[in-house]
Amino acid sequence: MAVSAFPFSAPLDRPVLKAFGASSGKSLESLGLRTVGDLLRHYPRRYEHRGELTDLAGLALGEHVTVVADVETATIRRTRDGKALLEAAIADGRGRLRIAFFAGHPGRLRWHEGKLVPGRRGLFSGVVSQYQGRLQLMHPDFEVFDPEDEAQAREEAAWPIPIYPSSSSLQSWQIRRAVRHELDGLGDGEVPDPLPSGLRAAHHLPSLLEALRLVHVPQEDADWHRGRHRLRFEEAFVLQAELARRRARSAGQAAVRRPGVAGGLLDAFDARLPFTLTAGQREVGEQIAGELARPHPMQRLLQGEVGSGKTVVALRAMLQVIDSGGQAALLAPTEVLAAQHVRTLRALLGDLAEGGFLGGAEQATRVALLTGSLPAAARREALADAAGGAAGIVVGTHALLNPDVQFADLGLVVVDEQHRFGVEQRDVLRTRGQVHPHLLVMTATPIPRTVAMTVFGDLETSVLREVPAGRSGVRTFMADARRPNYVARTWTLVREQVDSGGCAFVVCPRIAADDDDGGDDADLLADEGVGLPPEGAGAPRPPLRAVLEVRDELAARPELAGIPIGLLHGRMPAEDKDRALDAFASGATPVLVTTTVIEVGVDVPAATAMVVLDADRFGLSQLHQLRGRVGRGAAPGVCLLVSSADEGTPAWERLETLTRTTDGFALAAADLELRREGDVLGAAQSGTASSLRLLRVARDADLIERARGEAAALVGQDPELAGWPALTDAIEHRLAGSGEEFIDRV
Ligand code: ADP
Ligand code: MG
Repeated sequence: MAVSAFPFSAPLDRPVLKAFGASSGKSLESLGLRTVGDLLRHYPRRYEHRGELTDLAGLALGEHVTVVADVETATIRRTRDGKALLEAAIADGRGRLRIAFFAGHPGRLRWHEGKLVPGRRGLFSGVVSQYQGRLQLMHPDFEVFDPEDEAQAREEAAWPIPIYPSSSSLQSWQIRRAVRHELDGLGDGEVPDPLPSGLRAAHHLPSLLEALRLVHVPQEDADWHRGRHRLRFEEAFVLQAELARRRARSAGQAAVRRPGVAGGLLDAFDARLPFTLTAGQREVGEQIAGELARPHPMQRLLQGEVGSGKTVVALRAMLQVIDSGGQAALLAPTEVLAAQHVRTLRALLGDLAEGGFLGGAEQATRVALLTGSLPAAARREALADAAGGAAGIVVGTHALLNPDVQFADLGLVVVDEQHRFGVEQRDVLRTRGQVHPHLLVMTATPIPRTVAMTVFGDLETSVLREVPAGRSGVRTFMADARRPNYVARTWTLVREQVDSGGCAFVVCPRIAADDDDGGDDADLLADEGVGLPPEGAGAPRPPLRAVLEVRDELAARPELAGIPIGLLHGRMPAEDKDRALDAFASGATPVLVTTTVIEVGVDVPAATAMVVLDADRFGLSQLHQLRGRVGRGAAPGVCLLVSSADEGTPAWERLETLTRTTDGFALAAADLELRREGDVLGAAQSGTASSLRLLRVARDADLIERARGEAAALVGQDPELAGWPALTDAIEHRLAGSGEEFIDRV
C-alpha cells in the first residue's frame, strides 16, 4: 500500500469522531476504538441465534424470543429519578407487548424514537420479562423494516447475531450498526491485507475484508468460524513475521567470537568437576560453545526441568567467554537468588574464583555481586571489578542494569529464571554496547512449545529434560487443612524428617496476617482464574496463612517441640535473608517458614520436606517449582500440599494432578489449559493480550506452527519484509504500545 499523501485519507484510518460524529465517536473512543480500522477489529465476543419466530400469543416469561410485530405507540418520558424512558407497544394481531428502553437522558433515545414510528413493522428480540403484570421486552434488539426491505429483513432474521464487548453508553447493537455501516461502504482495495495472497490461497483463507464481513455479518455459524480462523492465522502470522525478522536481524549482527582456549579456566574447571555431566548438559554445552565461537550473537533459551543442572551449563559458558578475554553478567530475579548464585559459583570454582588473592589459581578470575542493598564500600569495589575487568563474572539483580555499572568487555549475558524477569530489562544490558553480547536465557518453568514460540519466538531453544542421576525425587501428597488429624500428621511428618537429619520448608502465601495481597508473590492465582468462588460467595474462606503467624503457631505445636524455626520473606533485609538461608542449610534451624522467595533456584541439598499451606492458591507450575526445592540430595523428598479445597473442585483437581506427575512439561501444559493466558505468560507479557485477540496459545498450537513456518519462509526471501507493506504496517500497528514492549523484550 502506498503511503497516502493526505492524513486519514485511507478509510480504515478515519477517526471515529469524524465517521460517527462527536457523541457516538466519544462512546467508541471510550472502548479504545479510535479509528474505523479499530472498530472493524473490535470482534464480536459471541453470537446469538434468534431462533424461530414466535407469535405474541405464545410468549413465555424468561424466554429469549424474536417476534415480528407492528409499532402501535412510542413515547419518551422522564422517570421519577430523572432518567429517560421510551415505552412502545407492539402488536401482531394475536397479542400485544410492551417494549421499554431506559437511558440517562432523552437525547439517547431519539434514535430509537425515530425508528419506532407507529405503523411500521419490525423484528424485536430479547428476553420476556414482566412489568405490572404484563409481558414486556426490556432493551430488545430490534430492526424496523423499510417497507421495501421487509423480505430482506426477514431473511436476516435467521442470521447469527454478533454480540460485542460493549459499555453502558454504547450497546452491542449500536456497535453492530456502526460496524455494518462501515463495512458496507468498503471495497477490497481499501482494506490492505497483511497476509500475502499466495499464502491465503495455499491455506484457503479469505481476504481480510471478507473475513471481517464473515465475523461481523455472518449468515450462518460456519461464516464466523471461517472468518475467525483467518483472523487468528493473521494474528499468529503478524507476530511470527516480526519474530522471524528479528531473528534474521540478530543473525546479521556482529558479536565478538568467544571460542575459549585450551588449558584455560574452562578446562581447569572441567577437570575438577565433582560429578560427570549428564548427556543433556554435554549436548547443550557443545551447542552453546559452538555458538559463542561465532561472530554473531548467540540467542538461546535454555529450558531445564527443576534441578536439571542449568547453573553448571551457564558457568561453563561463562568460563569459555572469560577464557576468550570477555566478561559474563548473570542476572537473577531476586537478591536471595543472586547471593546464592555467587556462593554456588564460588564453591564450584574454588581457587579458580580467587583471582588477585593470595592462593588463587594462576588463571583465576573473580565473581562479583551487585545488588541494590549492597553497602557502599562493597558496591564501589564490585563496580571497580566490573569496569576494570577483574571480575570475570558479575552476578546481580536488576541493580546490574543501572547505567553506572560498566563492564570492561561484556561478552555474555545470562538471565536466570526468566519468568520472573521483565524481559525489557535484559535488553538494557544486551543493547548497551555497540557490539551485542551473546545471550543465554534460562528458565526452570518448562514452557509449552507454543508459548515458547510466541513469547520467546526469536530465541533458539534447548531443553534439559533429565535430572542428574542419584536424585531420589519427591513424593507429593495432599492434606485437608480442615481436618485436625491430617494437620497433626503433617507436622509429625516434618518432625520425623528433622529427626532423621533432614530439614523442611513451610511455604505460606502471605508475609503478615494483615497483608491483603500475595506478600512476596504477585503470581498468586486470582480466585476467578481457577474456578474458586469469588470472595463473599458461598462459605467464607478462612484468611490466607501468613509467614509470621504460622511461625508462632508452629513454635507452639507439640509435634515440633524443641525444633528451632527460621523465617524468610522478601521484606527482610538482604543480610537477614542470607543468614536465614545459611542457618537452614546448616541445620541450625531445620524448619524454615517462608514465602515463595524460595521458589526459584534455592538449592539446599539437605531439604527433604516441604509443606505448602493454602496450596490451592498457587499455580501448578509454581508448585512444581516449589517442590523442586526438596529431594535434591540423596534422601527422598516429600511435599505436602495443605489446602481446604473441596474434593472434586477444580482447585482440588489441580493439586491432585501434582500428586500424580513430576513431569514439568506435562504440568506446564495442564497449567496452560487451566489458567488464563495472561497468568501463564505473566504480567510482564500482558502486551501479548492486546495484540493477540483471538489467538490462544494453548489451543492454537498447530496454527501457530504453520504461521511460524510461513513467516520464516517469507523472511527468508525478504529479510526486512520490504515488499510487504501491508504486513509491516500491521506489525507496526498491532504490536504498537504495550504490544511492542512485549515483542521488544523477546
Ligand atoms: P537448576 O537447573 O534447577 O538450576 P542447579 O543448576 O541448581 O539446577 O543444579 C541442581 C544441583 O545439581 C546442584 O547442586 C548442582 O551442583 C547439581 N548438579 C548439576 N549437574 C549435575 C550432574 N551432572 N551430576 C550431579 N549433580 C549435578
Ligand atoms: Mg537454577
